[in-house]
Amino acid sequence: MPDLTSSFDLVVVGGGAAGLATANRAVDLGARVLLLDKADAVGGSAALSAGILWTAPNREVLDRIQPDADPVLGPLVVEGYEQAVADVRDAGADVSDEWLDHLEWGRACKVDIKALFTVWTRKVESSGAVLTGVSDVGLVTDDGAVTGVRFRHDGTHQSIRARGVVLATGGFQGDPELKQMFIGHGADDIAVRSNPQSVGDGFRLGRSVGAAASRHLSGFYGHTLPSPLPVNPDVFLRLTLYFSAYGVIVNRLGRRFTDESLGDEVSNQFLIRQPGHRAVLIWDDTVQQNRALAVPYPSGMALDRHAEAKALEARTAETGTLAELVDTVATWGVDRAALLTTLDDYRRAARGEDVALDAPLPERPSPLSTGPFRALEIQPCITIPFGGLRVDGDCRVLDRDDRPVPGLFAAGADAGGAQDLRYVGGIVFGFVFGRRAADAALAQVGSPERLAVAR
Ligand SMILES: Cc1cc2nc3c(=O)[nH]c(=O)nc-3n(C[C@H](O)[C@H](O)[C@H](O)COP(=O)(O)OP(=O)(O)OC[C@H]3O[C@@H](n4cnc5c(N)ncnc54)[C@H](O)[C@@H]3O)c2cc1C
Repeated sequence: MPDLTSSFDLVVVGGGAAGLATANRAVDLGARVLLLDKADAVGGSAALSAGILWTAPNREVLDRIQPDADPVLGPLVVEGYEQAVADVRDAGADVSDEWLDHLEWGRACKVDIKALFTVWTRKVESSGAVLTGVSDVGLVTDDGAVTGVRFRHDGTHQSIRARGVVLATGGFQGDPELKQMFIGHGADDIAVRSNPQSVGDGFRLGRSVGAAASRHLSGFYGHTLPSPLPVNPDVFLRLTLYFSAYGVIVNRLGRRFTDESLGDEVSNQFLIRQPGHRAVLIWDDTVQQNRALAVPYPSGMALDRHAEAKALEARTAETGTLAELVDTVATWGVDRAALLTTLDDYRRAARGEDVALDAPLPERPSPLSTGPFRALEIQPCITIPFGGLRVDGDCRVLDRDDRPVPGLFAAGADAGGAQDLRYVGGIVFGFVFGRRAADAALAQVGSPERLAVAR
């Protein structure tokens, strides 16, 4: 049992990408850190992830992909990327060569996330404490400032004072109430593609001491997955449909509702606004061979996701002609006549004809010319919300008048507003803003020597 009687400089609530990055940096600054996680082990969604550390390569690309992103937070993640990679290397964890066409425009590398988290966890334990399986976390305040936390661990109530508290509980994707409230009607039912513990605790803790909500509350990151199918960690990575960006997606009215080329994570967001929250992805054999069967990124899985979905009894179809495909898809509740019109209009528009479409034609339209043709019913999933607590560039949690709540910081998915409709990375936000949160929380004390004296 770690020593909880000596004082701590910083308490970090949540031990995923953001929490561990915060704690690691704080230890480097000489701090004694207490890291708390509700789960039985640290790691969060990051430990379930593919470990791709990526984002936009420069400000220009960021502005193109996310024109309405937060003007302060967005650029900081682009500027902080190289330091984030350096932090992984410093821990001795493997980092792959960089590639520069992640999802066509991102800069990326793969990191050995499990090895990294093992090193960071040991480091925090060696100078402070890491407690898993905690519950009932609350904030301790004194005259409006956050001065510590209370929580329950091993059947015992604890109260710990610290100079700062960093909230890094991973978002509210697991909470139907917050999803419905912010993302909108029907969002309460979206399947969760993340760790199951991120249910808005950080958001609620922040609100309990006067924090404001961020912008972009209705946006979220996730992917479409085959339907009907239970969503669990076995299918998170195996059945992620990155290649939907190259197909045609229609709702049950037989109509397109998005420019598919914006990415699966954008189609996924618009999908929750469609009847029954279901859609159908259609593609031809050229897309099957060149995109669906190919690895989505270096080190990604190459597999036939249509065949996998079929084996798991999702709604799938494979036919020699597009007309036969439409007949099958109509038996899934999709309007047959409208679908025929949609596909016809799409092909005419792709040939350059002037046709009114329900959604913009992708820059490189799906060919829909070579059989066999395939279809798959899809469902939306949420991994993290884009909204959360309002923060500034130093991860200080802000109230409705944009004044910092003294002593309180947030990082990772708990810190909202940085991303807009499109997605420019998840882990990188945890690493970049975790580091910044530690810097800001400990800046008030100064050097490691002064920290030790202050303790
Ligand atoms: C299948 C999958 C693949 C992914 N692949 C990638 C990828 O390749 N690249 C990428 O950039 N992103 C990826 N992501 C997204 C990425 O994992 C997340 O964006 C990132 O982990 C968010 O970091 P975080 O620290 O905010 O949350 P998390 O990493 O989820 O950590 C949150 C932690 O807080 C803990 N917690 C919750 N409530 C409490 C509480 N009350 N008290 C204490 N602890 C609490 C949780 O148990 C958890 O450990 C993927 C996600 C998934 C699910």
